[in-house]
Amino acid sequence: MSPKVYINGEYFDKKDAKISVFDHGLLYGDGVFEGIRSYNRLVFKLKEHIDRLYESAHGIMLKINLSKKEMEKAVIDTLKSNKLDDAYIRLIVTRGVGDLGLDPRKCKGSSIIIITDKIQLYPEKMYKEGLSIITVPTPRNIPEALNPQIKSLNYLNNILAKIEALNCGYEEAIMFTASGYVAECTGDNIFIIKDNALITPPAYLGILKGITRASVMQIGKKLGLDVKEDVLTRHNLFTADESFLTGTAAEVVPVVSIEKRIVGTGQPGKTTLKLMKEFKNLTKTDGTKY
Ligand code: PMP
Repeated sequence: MSPKVYINGEYFDKKDAKISVFDHGLLYGDGVFEGIRSYNRLVFKLKEHIDRLYESAHGIMLKINLSKKEMEKAVIDTLKSNKLDDAYIRLIVTRGVGDLGLDPRKCKGSSIIIITDKIQLYPEKMYKEGLSIITVPTPRNIPEALNPQIKSLNYLNNILAKIEALNCGYEEAIMFTASGYVAECTGDNIFIIKDNALITPPAYLGILKGITRASVMQIGKKLGLDVKEDVLTRHNLFTADESFLTGTAAEVVPVVSIEKRIVGTGQPGKTTLKLMKEFKNLTKTDGTKY
């Protein structure tokens, strides 16, 4: 049985889960979303994801017609009705159905979509051997225009960077800010380890404030690392002892080379491996039960 999709309070089979071509989510990427995961019937950081969704919506002046509590319940009910123990949850809120103009006032109210599916894990090899990635020329959106802290449905900035990486034979890209500082990857945050410091770019530079990023920073503190949000340059990347990416889908994945320059020993780093293990443990215990 394929999982049922929630659309505005109703459940539909995958093949019947459809929205209008006049929805501004489709016409203009006018909407926001979250990617959430559940592990063994525990939804990881559900409150944090719902809070970020409502913050993103507020950032684009989009009113969600459910309270946070009701949204939480809708996610849990969808998971329960689909009997998924481990799932990837895509929660989407669009501006809703309008006309062909931009005017959001013409939209009749937001559409809420919850898709739950089995997770497609990245190949195990990637976690054992680490990722080789590349930096790309397309800068991350400037925060003054469209702040990357808003997880909007318009991901073209990230898709362009992804295409540049794929064209060069790499699966993931490091994006810089328009001023040339390290920002993040197309769908993940980036960290480096240098001596005893665990460093990741600050959110004000214009990155998504990842929920996995926050968990890993907390774990790092517990492990006695000097956890810092700091501006990073290409030089910092190339001279790092270790590097890794974080994201809901990827979890914690080691980076072993950047533009064919070897990071550290060229193997997943010792501290990275420790953080990966502690993060895995956290997903087994920390979550909303369903
Ligand atoms: N940056 C971008 C651009 C993302 O899309 C994501 C989520 N896939 C992340 C970082 C990681 O965020 P999180 O840990 O909250 O999934």
